[in-house]
Amino acid sequence: MSDPVIFRIPMRTRFRGQTVREGVLLRGPAGWGEFSPFPEYGPRECARWLACAREAAFEGWPAPLRSRVPVNATVPAVGPEHAHELVRQSGAGTAKVKVAEKGQSFAEDLARVEAVRDALGPGGKVRVDANGAWEVDEAVRKLKELDRFGLEYAEQPCATLAELARVRLALDVPIAADESIRRAEDPLKVRAAEAADIAVVKVQPLGGVREALRVVEACGLPAVVSSAVETSVGLAAGLALAAALPELPYACGLGTLSLLSGDVTTEPLMPVGGWLEVRRPDADAVSDFQIDSPLWLRRMEAAQ
Ligand SMILES: [Mg+2]
Repeated sequence: MSDPVIFRIPMRTRFRGQTVREGVLLRGPAGWGEFSPFPEYGPRECARWLACAREAAFEGWPAPLRSRVPVNATVPAVGPEHAHELVRQSGAGTAKVKVAEKGQSFAEDLARVEAVRDALGPGGKVRVDANGAWEVDEAVRKLKELDRFGLEYAEQPCATLAELARVRLALDVPIAADESIRRAEDPLKVRAAEAADIAVVKVQPLGGVREALRVVEACGLPAVVSSAVETSVGLAAGLALAAALPELPYACGLGTLSLLSGDVTTEPLMPVGGWLEVRRPDADAVSDFQIDSPLWLRRMEAAQ
């Protein structure tokens, strides 16, 4: 194995309170792998993220069952005109719309979702993501109203599994769990609590493509593969999972590269017309973003 390469890429917009995305790229006989746990994660959680990078570098991934994967456009908490334009530009048939943004009104959510429905046309799919912000009654009331525009599903309307289960019982709109799934055992808990119809899964926190395949199979819920806002090297692992899942009924959340201001490859995994081609880019441009960071070497060592 060659020496690990530490990278730092500025974000175009703030995400999880971060303005840069940092991590380590490993190169092994199978190719490049990415280790990029968020700053708040300790060694136990980081061990899974590292397992994902090591699988990519040393083992490679199961054979793909499809050559391209549908991805959703992502609409942040912007005004309706901007939302409309983002969706039209993406060419995607599915859009995920942020709702329940701090400091905004529900009228703004309604206007944004209406604009996205208009941009997609009646055949498009609109999902909303509240990132756990609503109380149960509020979620039921607001989702009923938003469903005027036809919702594919609602992602994490409330914070806890018990709350999600109550919202799910009260509504016809399917519920997806995202923040409730951070560890390999979580999808099974979601299923046991009858808290969601759909599991949002990410390869790094689940410990790699093979482990994620096992978790999805054991959980039995349809999966939406999403990114942890990785570079193209990390996204390729998520793409490998989406390509290897026996069923892929929903567009995936892997079209996130545009959140970063640059990439470690000259052949970035950017969606075209709402699709990502299943491939594995070389990290041939990582030197543009390389930094020295003893902290990252320590984090990686602690996660072994
Ligand atoms: Mg989400």
